[in-house]
Amino acid sequence: MTRSSEAAHGEVRGRNTRDARLADRLAAALDRPAAQQPEWPDPARARTVVELLRTAPPIVAEPETAQLSERLAAVARGQAFLLQSGDCAETFAETTASHLRANLGLLKRMSLLLARAAGLPVVPLARMAGQYAKPRSRSVDADGLPVYRGDMVNSAEPTLAARTCDPDRMLHAHEHAARAMTLARRAYAREQSNPRTGPSSYPHGTAGGRLVGTAEETGRDQGPRSEQIYVGHEMLLLDYECAPLRAAGLTTGPEPLLVSPLAHFLWIGERTRGLGDAHLAVAELLANPIGVKIGPSTTPEEAVEYVRRLDPHATPGRLTLISRMGRSQVREVLPPIVEKVTSTGHQVVWQCDAMHGNSRTTPDGRKTRHFDDIVAEIEGFFEVHRSLGTHPGGLHLEATGEDVTECLGGARGLGEADLPARYRTACDPRLNEEQSMELAFTVADLLAE
Ligand code: PEP
Ligand code: MN
Repeated sequence: MTRSSEAAHGEVRGRNTRDARLADRLAAALDRPAAQQPEWPDPARARTVVELLRTAPPIVAEPETAQLSERLAAVARGQAFLLQSGDCAETFAETTASHLRANLGLLKRMSLLLARAAGLPVVPLARMAGQYAKPRSRSVDADGLPVYRGDMVNSAEPTLAARTCDPDRMLHAHEHAARAMTLARRAYAREQSNPRTGPSSYPHGTAGGRLVGTAEETGRDQGPRSEQIYVGHEMLLLDYECAPLRAAGLTTGPEPLLVSPLAHFLWIGERTRGLGDAHLAVAELLANPIGVKIGPSTTPEEAVEYVRRLDPHATPGRLTLISRMGRSQVREVLPPIVEKVTSTGHQVVWQCDAMHGNSRTTPDGRKTRHFDDIVAEIEGFFEVHRSLGTHPGGLHLEATGEDVTECLGGARGLGEADLPARYRTACDPRLNEEQSMELAFTVADLLAE
């Protein structure tokens, strides 16, 4: 592991007192323990790569990130809905226009359906352009090989050479992220002129017909603007994530912050959310909106600590709490967390990740999820929020517009025997187009209630 922030932030340090303080705070954050970091076999090369990443071109622009923050504030206030979706693990091989267009098209169609049904603007957030590093429960696989940690770290190919961590992959990941973002912007612009999903497809003048992303929602009088696509990924690999951080132009409080040019939205995963750990300490320094995954072992006290640390100035939507409790635990574990957080007066976005608490393995060793379990967790999530008077603000899905066979169930009733046909994910199983749209209809009904 490198995380040599001293070297990485020499440039920031040199500029002025504000930047020197930021560099010191980042160095202190990175001195904390960090889980799930690769052991680079060549630390000197890793340091060189970190140096190169420091000046890599931005993937996203800060004003877009600020715009997402405004839109998440609307979600936190109950005036909009957040829909996040994409691959569990992006691969370099699938930085193609057709794959990105398939996933974005699906996100767009689900967003449109939900916006129409609920009469609420929907904020589309793609798991894209950076989702190349994966946390893993075990460090070796069934064959005793080092586990695949995402294309940013090693290769999925089952040989020792391919599984050896390679720091140069961080540079490739950045190139792929930049390319993916360019393709995504182009794909989204094309959707704008599509009569099925573009702005003119929205009925005007009715409660259900508010244009997604209008000035009405953002509170700024700039007239209807074209839809912006936002991207986010798990902030996992700190060498990659921290090297390009720069002083933020915009802050929400008195102290200066850093901003990540790698994504609009970043989240901390279930395995790296320790209160004393580096990931949380780094996230505290960022101006980007932040998410934290909260699994079934999360206590209400811990959740309040995330709120206190990551939303010190009580900025609506600054923090998204992404519950992933599983269908059997959501009704018991989530309510005391929501109550305790609500009692602090902070307005967070409550988002339901209906995937990660509902994973299972088939007898032949394939990771899968059942459509009914996903629906059941979402129903539980809505029930909890409806009974507490809080806003069920969003969904977090692993889904693709490709016709894969990775999750069970849905209208076609996919069974275990159907999975091998088109099981293509590099990590966790994704809903396919048909299952995703069926899910969107179900959620639309819940939102409309
Ligand atoms: C993921 O989002 O792919 C993931 C690993 O989630 P979690 O951290 O909730 O397990
Ligand atoms: Mn996953």
